Amino acid sequence: MTKTLAIDLDSVLADTMTTWTAVYSSIYKTRISKYEITSWDITKILPISAEEISGIFIYVWTHLWKEIPPTEPNLANIVKQIHKKGYRISILTKRERETVQYVANWLDYYDIFSDDLIFVYDATPKAMYQFDILVDDAPINLIDIISPKVGILFNQPWNLGFNWPIRVSSISNMESKL
Ligand SMILES: [Mg+2]
Repeated sequence: MTKTLAIDLDSVLADTMTTWTAVYSSIYKTRISKYEITSWDITKILPISAEEISGIFIYVWTHLWKEIPPTEPNLANIVKQIHKKGYRISILTKRERETVQYVANWLDYYDIFSDDLIFVYDATPKAMYQFDILVDDAPINLIDIISPKVGILFNQPWNLGFNWPIRVSSISNMESKL
């Protein structure tokens, strides 16, 4: 039976926070990199409101989407290899509606394959969706997952303090474990 691998988009396929911190640094005339974002709650790290955080995020996707790098070189081929191994690739991303068309552009531009693409607008937990494995950088998306479903935490500076048994540092790192 074909297994479905659900993959989060932001900070798992698209290295959004690299561009986000570049925009933040330019607005506030500072030099912050994503490696300094060591808490899931950015307001604990930077003097910025939740609204401003979301505003920069939307700006990055709607105006600078082409500049958002994939999280690793050769990502398109790695995703295709996972598909060739027999996995259904489901990109599962929670986001603001106005960024959707740019996400589709980004996936097309960087040639990232998927069997489906699911945009979540409401607060439905990702664990409720149909998949066998979910890879995500957000601990909150993994904590509701019940066996036999599997949650894999994608390492990012903001989740290193979270205790989770299965972690990967890249999609190629995950591919070698499948
Ligand atoms: Mg994410």
